[in-house]
Amino acid sequence: MGSIEREQFDVLIIGASLSGICSLYHFREQFPSWNIKVLEAGSGVGGTWFWNRYPGARFDSESISYQFSWDKEFLQEWDWKETFAAQPDILKYIETLTDKHHLRDHMQFNTRIKSVHWQDNSRTWLLIDETGVKYQTRFFVSCMGVLSAPTPPAIPGIESFEGQAFHTASWPEDFVMSRDFSGKRIGVIGTGATGIQTITEIAKEPSIKSLTVFQRTPNWSAPLRNAKITKEQMKEMKAEYDAVLQQCASSATGFLHDPDPRKTMEVTHEERIAHWEKIYAQPGFAKWIGNFSDTYTDREANRLYSNFIADKIRQRVHDPEVAESLIPKNHGFGTRRVPLESGYFESYNQSNVHLVDLQKTPIDTVTPNGIRTADGKEHELDILVYATGFDAITGAFNSVEFHGKDNSPLIACSGVDDRDAYERAVWPDHRPYTYLGLMAPGMPNMFMVLGPHQSYGNIPRSIEYSALVVRDLLSYARENNYTFVEATRKAADEWTEHVIDSNKGQLSNEIDSWMTGVNSNVKGKMMRSVARYSGGSIEYRRRCQQCKENGWMGFTFA
Ligand code: NAP
Repeated sequence: MGSIEREQFDVLIIGASLSGICSLYHFREQFPSWNIKVLEAGSGVGGTWFWNRYPGARFDSESISYQFSWDKEFLQEWDWKETFAAQPDILKYIETLTDKHHLRDHMQFNTRIKSVHWQDNSRTWLLIDETGVKYQTRFFVSCMGVLSAPTPPAIPGIESFEGQAFHTASWPEDFVMSRDFSGKRIGVIGTGATGIQTITEIAKEPSIKSLTVFQRTPNWSAPLRNAKITKEQMKEMKAEYDAVLQQCASSATGFLHDPDPRKTMEVTHEERIAHWEKIYAQPGFAKWIGNFSDTYTDREANRLYSNFIADKIRQRVHDPEVAESLIPKNHGFGTRRVPLESGYFESYNQSNVHLVDLQKTPIDTVTPNGIRTADGKEHELDILVYATGFDAITGAFNSVEFHGKDNSPLIACSGVDDRDAYERAVWPDHRPYTYLGLMAPGMPNMFMVLGPHQSYGNIPRSIEYSALVVRDLLSYARENNYTFVEATRKAADEWTEHVIDSNKGQLSNEIDSWMTGVNSNVKGKMMRSVARYSGGSIEYRRRCQQCKENGWMGFTFA
């Protein structure tokens, strides 16, 4: 074990992600004399956009809506090249903004925190990294992200594979597809948003020998409709930024799309089809969010729209059997997060792209040469890509050992952890218990930006808001010389109940996905839980504002 760093911190932020960058910027502006540092596991800034370098990674939110609003000058300086920017451009945007504000001077990279300990006598947190170095801080802000703990598939024989294997979130550095995939038989497991993006891109590479996709559950997907942005268009968009931000702020999801207030059955069949064709032809999430207002709460409305999209898939895939395998049967459109695609379905019309429907022939085992399915067939592979997603929302917290007040753990699972830990856990079985998603009782002086129970939607919009609420809460503590802040149990009880209520009636709540807390690759994550707030960002902001105006009601200070 190393010794305690000589420096004591006022605030430590975990993660040089978009949340970490935004929090650091605002905290430094507000508390110039404070010693504030970001600790980051990776070697650079960007979080999600640093790690996810797989071919095909790009926005499916409009680039102009996915940027920080606090540097108006930089908004005018930065040119987006595409309606939906690709990962290298996104990372460049994040790096350039970070450098412009000299934020790297307050960041320490290659530092993965393994445990955090609340010290009641000094009212500080002690953080220990994986090399044993200790850091002491008065306040600790988690900016660890919602989708940042990758999960390789729990499949027998996985360690026996003799080819190259990697998760999409740890793509090999300096990868060049035309060189590294040339002549190779590639297998991809997983068909979520990541799988769909990368399968499409790999299939387009002329030098590959074959691509075999192992699909357990098909996902509804629809065209992204990306386009280049010309210099002239960019100039026009920049002139409209105030309106763009205003539009995001007035939408419940923070995106540039709003639901049609009409209900599906209120209009004639012809009007319905016309509206669906219109949104299907539009870029981005229009075909998800821009739908009739009851599409994700009314079973019949959802069934009709799902049929409309299923027909689009049938029109695009030549082999009817493959088309049927690609059409989801166990959930309706939009009840899982909708991946957007740019030629995904047409990939399966290529003679070197094969779909293995795991519902018909499940994976038996991974072998040294590839994957053997239940029909006895061995699919020989040189490279195996795991597009198998993340231990979402609570996963990043689960990778850190928490010792809160009275030494309580944050997360413990029945059947996985010991009974005592389970009974004392603040979030038993990955069920978050928070106040406004900002703090959890038993974890004083620890704040979350983009934590569980917050409103997600358009991510930078959510981050900007919650980073400012945490900043204001810290300001209040400083003004009043408080050294201790904690959410009360009463406030957390009420908020947690409200979050659960906000999900009631949503068809998405009845479906297994990362959004409902189910992940077959993580021990203790087989039961559905409510980890995200579905009341919308407008209501979320209203409740935070109400809390602030009432003297930060629901928090105790000392
Ligand atoms: P995901 O949606 O959780 O998908 C994981 C996929 O892997 C699913 O198809 C899953 O099948 C499959 N899988 C997992 N374990 C398996 C196993 N043992 N055997 C066979 N198949 C297995 O993860 P993701 O695609 O990485 O996407 C996660 C989220 O990241 C997205 O929903 C989105 O919010 C975000 N994302 C955003 C962008 C963007 O903004 N452009 C791009 C990519 C991702 P089952 O469905 O059967 O479990």
